Amino acid sequence: MTARSARKARNKVSQTLTKRVIQLLVPYVGRTGSAELAAEMAKRSVSSVRGARSTLAMSANRQYREAIGSDGKPFKPVVLNRFDDKVWIQSIEKALRDPETDSLDVTITTDHLDEISRKADHWARDAERGTLIDFAMRDPRFEGWARIDPEPPSCPFCTVLISIGPKRSDPNQAHFHIGDTCEVQLVLKGQEDYPGAEQVAEAQAKYEKAVKANGGKTDLAGLVKQLKTIDPEGQS
Ligand SMILES: [Zn+2]
Repeated sequence: MTARSARKARNKVSQTLTKRVIQLLVPYVGRTGSAELAAEMAKRSVSSVRGARSTLAMSANRQYREAIGSDGKPFKPVVLNRFDDKVWIQSIEKALRDPETDSLDVTITTDHLDEISRKADHWARDAERGTLIDFAMRDPRFEGWARIDPEPPSCPFCTVLISIGPKRSDPNQAHFHIGDTCEVQLVLKGQEDYPGAEQVAEAQAKYEKAVKANGGKTDLAGLVKQLKTIDPEGQS
């Protein structure tokens, strides 16, 4: 499975899932939020998120098989345990919670549903990214994984992370944000022409400029600020 067909599959899953989640939760529009209601909304939609996660985890497995080719035994995919009913309830509560009053006592609107669908999409993508990152970390045939954004311009935060390039970087520092389109590209040992290599090189050039403008310091907040000036298009 090429990066391109993986992307196509992902976009389709993403579109179907976000539409489905909104469809399932539309009856809640106009009602008043509460912990009970969030749990009810989660119960109604969780299997759609799970389904999308398993489809994208399978896609990750196919990408891995294609990357290692026919020589050698493939590793078994990891079982990801970071998504469950409880986590999904928390995601929904977060989407509903009024940031000013910190309360769930809000009238549910279609904006809330949009936010919930973005979170659903994020969790679906998480299964693909998590599976791929795990392969890149475990299987010694890989140099690591590179973060690539198939829908640039990338935000300054993502630009910094893309600039890291194919390393076995700590998966806990992968930091994919809500609405993030970045994907995980497996990179074999010694492979220099991996899909997205030019983007990594561009991001590295921007990163170096940003470090210079930041007085040689590499703190993320400072670099993000500098990149906003260097790359005013990447604001989203
Ligand atoms: Zn970003």
